[in-house]
Amino acid sequence: MENLTEFSVVIPIYNEAENIDELHRRLTMVMEKLCVDEGHPKNCYEIILVDDGSRDGSWALIKGVHEKDARVKGMNFSKNFGHHIALTAGLDYVKGETIILMDGDLQDPPEEIPKLYRKFKEGYDLVYGIRRERKDSFLKKVTSHMFWMILRKFTGVDMPRNQTMLRILSKRLVEVLRGMREYARFVHGMMAWVGFEVTTIEVEHRARTRGKSKYNIPRLFKLAFHAVTSFSTVPLRLAIYAGFISSFISLFVGLYFIFRKIVYNIPVLGYASIIVSIFFVGGVQLLMLGIFGEYLGRTYQETQRRPLYILKEKV
Ligand code: UDP
Ligand code: MG
Repeated sequence: MENLTEFSVVIPIYNEAENIDELHRRLTMVMEKLCVDEGHPKNCYEIILVDDGSRDGSWALIKGVHEKDARVKGMNFSKNFGHHIALTAGLDYVKGETIILMDGDLQDPPEEIPKLYRKFKEGYDLVYGIRRERKDSFLKKVTSHMFWMILRKFTGVDMPRNQTMLRILSKRLVEVLRGMREYARFVHGMMAWVGFEVTTIEVEHRARTRGKSKYNIPRLFKLAFHAVTSFSTVPLRLAIYAGFISSFISLFVGLYFIFRKIVYNIPVLGYASIIVSIFFVGGVQLLMLGIFGEYLGRTYQETQRRPLYILKEKV
C-alpha cells in the first residue's frame, strides 16, 4: 500500500490527563482541514502520543482516543524518561513526509499549525514557532531566559531565541536526527546542529490552563548542564585558561616579593594571605576536577549503550 500519511504530529505526554481530550479535538479539526486544503484525503495524518510514564491515567485516555480514532497512535514508556527522550521515541516511529512537534499541554495552540506549514512549503527543513511573549510566571521567564543565555554562550549552536516546541521538520532532517543516538539528549540543540534550511515564524503562546509545568529550577539546571556538556568542550578548556592566568600572575607576585626581600630586606608576613590563597587554589582545583569528572561521567554513560527508552505498550 502506498504511504498515505502526509503529516505526523508527535506529542510528549507526561501527566496531561486533563488536556488529552481537548488536544485531540482541536488537533483533529486543524489536521483534517489542513489535509483537505492541501488536496489530500482528510485522513492524511497521524498523531503519535508518547506517554512518558504518566501516573495520572493519561495512558488509559490515550488508548481510549485510539479506539475511537485510529489516526491516533500511542506509545507508553516503562517509566518517566524525560521530555526529550519522549520526542525522540515519537520521531523514531513517524511515517509522514512532514513532521510536526508540539507540547501536550496546549500552550502551543494547534490552530497555528497551518501558518507554520505555509512557511514550511516555501522550502524549509525546519520552521520554528517563536513566541512573541511568554505566557508563564515571572520566575519561569527569568530562569528560562538565563537558561537560553548560558546555552547560546557555551554551545556555539545557533538556537533561535524564544522557541516553542511547536515546529515543523522535514523528513530528511528527521532521518538525520534518528541517527543521533546520544544518551544525554537536548533536542533543541540537536536539531539546530543538523543545519539545512531553517527559519522561524511567530506563533501564539498560551498560558497553561490545566495541569502544571514539569520543569522546575533544578530540572532546568540539569538540562542546561546536559546541553552545554553535550555541545561544547569549552568548560574543559577553562582549566587551561585559569592555569595560564594564575601562573602568570604568581610569577610577577613572586618576583615582587623576592625583590623586596633582596633590595629592602623586608620579610614577607601574612598568615591570612597564605590561608586564603590555599583555599582559593584548592577551590579552583576542585571546580576543574568536577568539570573533568562531568565529562568523564558522560563518556562513561555513552559507552554503556543502554537503550534510550523502553516501551511498555504501543497502540
Ligand atoms: N513532558 C514529558 N516528560 C517529562 C516532562 C514533560 O513528556 O518528563 C511533556 C509534558 O507533558 C508537555 C511537554 O513535555 O507535553 C512540556 O512540558 P511542560 O509544559 O511541563 O514544560 P514547560 O512548558 O513548562 O516548559
Ligand atoms: Mg508547557
